[in-house]
Amino acid sequence: MKAYRASVLYFAPHSEGPVRAVLEEDGLLVVGPNAAGTQVVQAVGPYRDLASQYPGVAVQYWPGRIIAPGFVDLHVHYPQTNVIGSPAEGLLPWLENYTFPEEKRFVAPEYSAQAATFFVAELLRNGVTTALAFATSHPQSVNALFTEAQTQNMRLVTGLCLMDRHAPADLLNQPSAYGRVDATEQSLLDSETLIQRWHGQGRLGYAITPRFAPTCTDAQLRGAGQLAAQYPDVWIQSHVAENKDEITWARELFPQSRSYLATYDDFGLMRKRAVYAHCIHFDDDDRALMRDTGAAAAISPTSNLFLGSGFFDYAGADRVGFQYGLASDVGGGTSFSPFHTMLGAYYVGREGQTKQGLSLSPQHLWWQHTAGAARALGLDGSQGQPAVGNLLPGCEADFVVLNPQATPLLARKTARAANLDELLFSMIVLGDDRLIERTVISQAI
Ligand SMILES: [Zn+2]
Repeated sequence: MKAYRASVLYFAPHSEGPVRAVLEEDGLLVVGPNAAGTQVVQAVGPYRDLASQYPGVAVQYWPGRIIAPGFVDLHVHYPQTNVIGSPAEGLLPWLENYTFPEEKRFVAPEYSAQAATFFVAELLRNGVTTALAFATSHPQSVNALFTEAQTQNMRLVTGLCLMDRHAPADLLNQPSAYGRVDATEQSLLDSETLIQRWHGQGRLGYAITPRFAPTCTDAQLRGAGQLAAQYPDVWIQSHVAENKDEITWARELFPQSRSYLATYDDFGLMRKRAVYAHCIHFDDDDRALMRDTGAAAAISPTSNLFLGSGFFDYAGADRVGFQYGLASDVGGGTSFSPFHTMLGAYYVGREGQTKQGLSLSPQHLWWQHTAGAARALGLDGSQGQPAVGNLLPGCEADFVVLNPQATPLLARKTARAANLDELLFSMIVLGDDRLIERTVISQAI
């Protein structure tokens, strides 16, 4: 066992009602192995109460620092690290001119490997300890990312990008070497092979990953849905309702479905552990479909603002009651930093301010990128699943150490915080990777 003394930030147990963060000013976080040998939080609370209960346990003391849950990024593209900051008129030209050309390079295993190494390091440097990530349509890109995440013992979910039409030919899923199996069938066989190799290995998980409905044939979506039925505990990830041109295109391709979102449901791709990026242009039937199936939205504010896609409707989501959390969506998103993403979410919430209520609170913004995102992923400890994104007893011991004095302005501003909301909001507005002094990942014993 180990113990860490500093201020400790965590979220009170939450089901209904407002999210409530707790800051233990002089706190102690006690970490030790659970029955499965994973390092989890054993206790959290005031140092003066807890220290005597753990005699002989070495205490690491970080005065002036804040221990906080590691961040959870619900949607990020590891092959798009180099695409950050690429100007385009909108989503579709951005894909064509920047993203697809870069993703083609992942056909080379060495290219995938170095990109995976940089990507995982960048996530950890920014305090992100759990991520649901896209790879490319090349199985070698998936293997490279899983390999690197396994090396770092990071909790990471990814999968083979399914794309059998409407993209450059060498970026589509490929048929088997001798052409005996067509590209669509081969993409599903490859997905299953990758599930069997990686899903549930240590902290890794697999996500069935149709890029988005317009780049998948009916046969590929149907096959993905069958795979999802066969493997009920794998994740599903895709994009939906990001951009109006994209929606028009999806409606033309799948006119039999009630809406773009409903297309995924019609192919068996909506359920718990299904995470859809963006979810901007929804009606209430779409929102109810999210709620009723248990699917979750990955809100990607810096990406939505950068590409001019629109504003996630927090009020609509809360009124109908479906789950969501925050995501960087690099490289449409402009930063790996959770602070930038939380600030972007604040701007988006301002757009509908009169209806927003609690969505704008600093505690709620922070929750959306930690415990709330973990809940959206099904990693909140319910039904015997692991818990991340919080520091309650039983949660996997992934955390960040924040230095509120990291820059002169942060030091000046945080010193004047009169309450927890002011402190959190100072860090959301002024924070970046400099605020993350270290990232600690739960180690298998
Ligand atoms: Zn995306």
